[in-house]
Amino acid sequence: MSLPLYTKEQLQTLSQQIKCWARELGFQQVGITQPVINERDKAAFRQWLAAGFHGDLDYMARNSDLRFHPEQLHEGVTRVISVRMDYLPADTKAIKVLANKEKAYISRYALGRDYHKLIRKRLTQLGKKIEQYGGEHGFRAFVDSAPVMERPLAQQAGLGWMGKHTLIINPKAGSFFFLGELFTNIPLPIDTPFAKTHCGSCSACLDKCPTQAIVAPYKVDARRCISYLTIENSGPIPEALRPLMGNRVFGCDDCQLVCPWNKFSKPTGEDDFQPRHKLDATDLAVLFLWTEEEFLTNTAGSAIRRAGFECWLRNLAVGLGNAPSTEAVLSALNARVDYPSDMVREHVQWALRQHQQSDKVQVISHATAP
Ligand code: SF4
Ligand code: SF4
Repeated sequence: MSLPLYTKEQLQTLSQQIKCWARELGFQQVGITQPVINERDKAAFRQWLAAGFHGDLDYMARNSDLRFHPEQLHEGVTRVISVRMDYLPADTKAIKVLANKEKAYISRYALGRDYHKLIRKRLTQLGKKIEQYGGEHGFRAFVDSAPVMERPLAQQAGLGWMGKHTLIINPKAGSFFFLGELFTNIPLPIDTPFAKTHCGSCSACLDKCPTQAIVAPYKVDARRCISYLTIENSGPIPEALRPLMGNRVFGCDDCQLVCPWNKFSKPTGEDDFQPRHKLDATDLAVLFLWTEEEFLTNTAGSAIRRAGFECWLRNLAVGLGNAPSTEAVLSALNARVDYPSDMVREHVQWALRQHQQSDKVQVISHATAP
């Protein structure tokens, strides 16, 4: 493909135009950078792998060559247009739900429809708009779908800095947003990287992580992270970590909820990200009793469905093991003691054992006292 020849002024105008179109398409911010990963980010990723912090995410190790060479993902790419889209629904009562041990806490990004489709579609629309304006340019949209090091690229594109919890933080918008990338072959002017970090002496995310998964600033051990344990991990959850998970049954937001920069986060205006089926505040016991059919129906088009029913039950069993010993909790667990999956049965048995502890029994006697 031969690209049109652009003057410097035309590229400047096009860059400004792209930012306007992106905002019209619902992105809150856009930055442009080169498809190059700097040596510091490569070294940090290698150290993370060498420490085994990726757990069973073998593809992380397999794809590191591609991660370090974004130019291999799309022929002729010269620029990465990095975008962010806020996802936090208004008034999701996150803290209140976390504190209510009978409720299921689902990561706020997963309450609505799966973001991948929506963001990829919008990025493709952006690519087409650029094409209508300046001719064929060769583009490809990415949303978590390939080995793209989206956080270093977002930082280089000026979207924010990487916080000690390893997520990108924007000083005016916090961190509750999705990232996406549009690779293009047009040599657009690049934006200034976000050079400073503003975590300072804060360590709230490290201190408050329920499982101490942030083992050092900028280092998350996925094997301890509740997001990994409840979503990516397809095997049993390590027993020592189960009591620490509380009622977090799909993902975890604690490191973001305690981050002082999130007082600047803004609610999303996207209908697709609004909670569906009351998933923002439903009882663990109710969700645990969903049939597989109900699970498939109620999570159609949602990121939750990708975890599968068995892992959903596994996670909920842990949440129920950490819940107060109410009748609803115990009868939900008892209803699944013979569930035809070794993993689910083992988690249910663990959960029932938690309720045999004396302190929980006292909870029953208080709850049932006249
Ligand atoms: S998502 Fe939760 S478990 Fe994972 S690092 Fe953040 S606070 Fe810790
Ligand atoms: S909680 Fe504090 S240390 Fe952690 S990312 Fe936010 S500002 Fe940085």
